[in-house]
Amino acid sequence: MSSIVAIVGRPNVGKSTLFNRLVQRREAIVDSVSGVTRDRHYGKSEWNGKEFSVIDTGGYVVGSDDIFEGEIRKQVQLAIDEADIIVFVVDVEQGITPMDDAVAKILRQVKKPLFMAVNKVDNAMRDADAVEFYNLGLGDYYTISSINGSGTGELLDAVAEAIPEEEEEEVNELPRFAVVGRPNAGKSSFINALIGEDRNIVTNIAGTTRDSIDTKYNRFGFEFNLVDTAGIRKKSKVKEDLEFYSVMRAVRAIEHCDIAILVVDATRDFEGQDEKIFWLAEKNRKGIIILVNKWDLVEKQTNTMRDFEAHIRKKIAPFTDVPIVFISVLTKQRIFKAIETAVEVFENRKRRIQTSKLNETMLEIMDHNPPPATKGKFIKIKYCMQLPTHTPQFAFFANLPQYIRDPYRRYLENQLRERYDFKGVPISIYFRQK
Ligand code: GDP
Ligand code: GDP
Repeated sequence: MSSIVAIVGRPNVGKSTLFNRLVQRREAIVDSVSGVTRDRHYGKSEWNGKEFSVIDTGGYVVGSDDIFEGEIRKQVQLAIDEADIIVFVVDVEQGITPMDDAVAKILRQVKKPLFMAVNKVDNAMRDADAVEFYNLGLGDYYTISSINGSGTGELLDAVAEAIPEEEEEEVNELPRFAVVGRPNAGKSSFINALIGEDRNIVTNIAGTTRDSIDTKYNRFGFEFNLVDTAGIRKKSKVKEDLEFYSVMRAVRAIEHCDIAILVVDATRDFEGQDEKIFWLAEKNRKGIIILVNKWDLVEKQTNTMRDFEAHIRKKIAPFTDVPIVFISVLTKQRIFKAIETAVEVFENRKRRIQTSKLNETMLEIMDHNPPPATKGKFIKIKYCMQLPTHTPQFAFFANLPQYIRDPYRRYLENQLRERYDFKGVPISIYFRQK
């Protein structure tokens, strides 16, 4: 599970500039595979071997200039509750403003690792100006320039240091299925229907994160934990109209799961928040299934289901190899089929293909359809293997890996998907020098 780093601070101090700097390098690698539109406020980063998520909280405030202090306060409080590490950004050009003071006051209570970044220190002259930020009572700070990158390395060193070492995955830890989706999609109803139906429920146990609720569940001789995010939200005092809040919740749930069960309301379009949650899961290399719920409410004609499904697949392209199940929690239509499918995706995600078999299949395919020559260079892939990672990742060894373009990567992914069942599972493909 990776840690969540939240960037907080008042508008215009440079939060989103810093965010972009932190995630860019890694995004370039991950997203070149899919070419998908990405969330501009959530991303993954990696430093000194530590992987973490970064959230730019400012991105979720509406209206940026005349923002109310109350909004910022709420934002910061949520970040403190939900994130593992806080980066508080201030602006050396502006100096300390009353809003900085207000935020600092909240942050002084925080027990989590907190780093103050004095931004816009573009040159050494401004270094001296930064000392005034000691007055915020938060102790030491890092001087950075998000625009030219200076100082960000030291900040990242400190952040990475604060991230706990990745724990060895416990062998007999149960698979975790997180039920996610926007409010009112039917997440709680879905979980209740399963639980109500089944005698094999062992127990309700407190989840690993403070307030997630895991239900140990046994079905088809398969034991897993169902992670309920909806129930938590309902109990929470926090106003749920904050998009930031649902995003935070989804981030938490998804980062700690194996399979994301995305519940969608059939009476509404598949869009916005649904898509965001989908890509969140994809980016974290989690297994995904989509449940189109409230199917009972939809007036059906011959092709209604087919059309709805096609519509969703268009939105999630190019990662379309994802199970979509039409259910009704109300009438209990296909709800066990849904779980069965989630179990299948879980198995797919564990799939390991023997190197010899893989080469037998893929070398022939690549012989027939080699990567196109670029700049007159002849490219040959000589060998491939699945990496010994927790999720399906493949390395292809070539004479000139840097010349292999995205369409060919996608072609290889499609070929893999045609030959092996990776339904619902994101695949990573790397090209390496040989
Ligand atoms: P946010 O509202 O906190 O997300 O702030 P932005 O990242 O949008 O930045 C606000 C303004 O400050 C933009 O015009 C940025 O170009 C500028 N800015 C951000 N970081 C730096 C920096 O390190 N140095 C300077 N000189 N300007 C910066
Ligand atoms: P959550 O916010 O995602 O947990 O959604 P809830 O489980 O609270 O459901 C929101 C509303 O949708 C409730 O009024 C449910 O009774 C209703 N609902 C859930 N599933 C179905 C369904 O399959 N069909 C119909 N007609 N209503 C449903």
